[in-house]
Amino acid sequence: MIALPSPNFTERTLPVSIIVLHYTGMKTKEDALDRLRDPQAKVSAHYVIDEDGTVYALVDENKRAHHAGVSFWRGVSDINSASVGIELVNKGHEFGYTPFPEKQIDAVIRLCADIMTRRDIRFVLGHSDVAPARKQDPGELFPWKRLAENGIGFWTDDFLPAGGTAENLLNKIGYDTTDPAAARTAFCRHFLPEALSGQANVEGRMTAVLKGLS
Ligand SMILES: [Zn+2]
Repeated sequence: MIALPSPNFTERTLPVSIIVLHYTGMKTKEDALDRLRDPQAKVSAHYVIDEDGTVYALVDENKRAHHAGVSFWRGVSDINSASVGIELVNKGHEFGYTPFPEKQIDAVIRLCADIMTRRDIRFVLGHSDVAPARKQDPGELFPWKRLAENGIGFWTDDFLPAGGTAENLLNKIGYDTTDPAAARTAFCRHFLPEALSGQANVEGRMTAVLKGLS
């Protein structure tokens, strides 16, 4: 792990219960590291993981890094206070979204596993899960199932009989449903990516996720 301190942090006001995963969404790793350490930009993350698996540590985990912005999950709106933020180097939807390399995923699994030995993590989420109307990262190519197979976060392949309307289910899972269509898309990016390009039983998967996350 390489220390590359960022001045962009404040004090936490909530216990840590969430890991939020992002992609950097910039043309180069250097651009992203510069921005996440620029006092003018005021943004940061606790960790950045390069495509080759190198981990950069920017903000002390005990401090509140500025990665989630305006966000919400299960009644919590100060997600920065309640989470550890991890950025994965990837150009993203704007500059050329590509699959996450094996070494990068191995590194995120190791890092999350380490964090979870030290902290009581209840949810491992994407930025788009906590800010569905604003964000798409880490996106539909992120291998959530592989993480879950390694004990990181939750995954299910099940479809259960729909236990309510999509909006109702998304609400109970934890999403901000102010923009119901955006919340539905965020859910699909994480839990049912095939629904983004075709027909799928989205409410059935939502019901299975709700059961698994409850
Ligand atoms: Zn993000």
